[in-house]
Amino acid sequence: MAEPKKRPATGRPQPKGAAPARRRPAAPPAKRQAPARPEPESGEKGGLGELLAPVAGFGVTFSSMFRPSMTEQYPFEKKPTQPRYHGRHQLNRYADGLEKCIGCELCAWACPADAIYVEGADNSPDAQFSPGERYGRVYQINYLRCIFCGLCIEACPTRALTMTNDFELAGPTREGLIFTKDELLAPLREGQLAAPHPMVAGTVDDDYYRGEVTGPTTDQVDWVAEQRPDDPTLPAARAAADAEATAERAKAAR
Ligand code: SF4
Ligand code: SF4
Repeated sequence: MAEPKKRPATGRPQPKGAAPARRRPAAPPAKRQAPARPEPESGEKGGLGELLAPVAGFGVTFSSMFRPSMTEQYPFEKKPTQPRYHGRHQLNRYADGLEKCIGCELCAWACPADAIYVEGADNSPDAQFSPGERYGRVYQINYLRCIFCGLCIEACPTRALTMTNDFELAGPTREGLIFTKDELLAPLREGQLAAPHPMVAGTVDDDYYRGEVTGPTTDQVDWVAEQRPDDPTLPAARAAADAEATAERAKAAR
């Protein structure tokens, strides 16, 4: 009779005569769980929110329909800008009419848009345009480039360059938007004498910077009358110079 086949030993050896180890039944397979629903993130709309979302998009439109109309009737009605609005530039003058620009080009170097072009030149006794040695012979600002950042006016050491509130800078040609010195120079106020003319006698450029020159003097008016007898600024400048001289005499007599 054939012997029964021996099972191969597995695991720990069993003591002789011991009952064969019972196999532990295999654990039933774990129930498959349904994937958890993602929690709505804060700010995410619920069912009702999603339903109303297309309508909510018109919320601003509906609320604006009942507000008063804010249409500005420009250019028929022009509203003033804020006082520190950055508009068109201006090249300023001293009280006697000399130009403040000394042609140093610092504004051009400061400009991030490369919108300013300056050429300086020497003043001479026959043609003194500004106090000191130099003046701005050529001055241009290209308003096709300018971004009105104001860095140029911060860089100017004599406060020659400032910005006005004028914002109407549209034009029909590209060339017309390159403003030249004539267009940028501040108009002469009543009593100012058109440059060139000598500085006030006995002063240096520092006196101008400190604001010690308050108007044209008789000497300056006489010089212009001799060089340019038809200068239209002469009558008002002479009247201002005479009034200043009278006030000085009265002050000295007290
Ligand atoms: S405002 Fe700015 S961009 Fe315009 S010219 Fe001055 S520095 Fe240049
Ligand atoms: S505007 Fe001012 S910074 Fe520019 S060249 Fe004249 S003085 Fe210099």
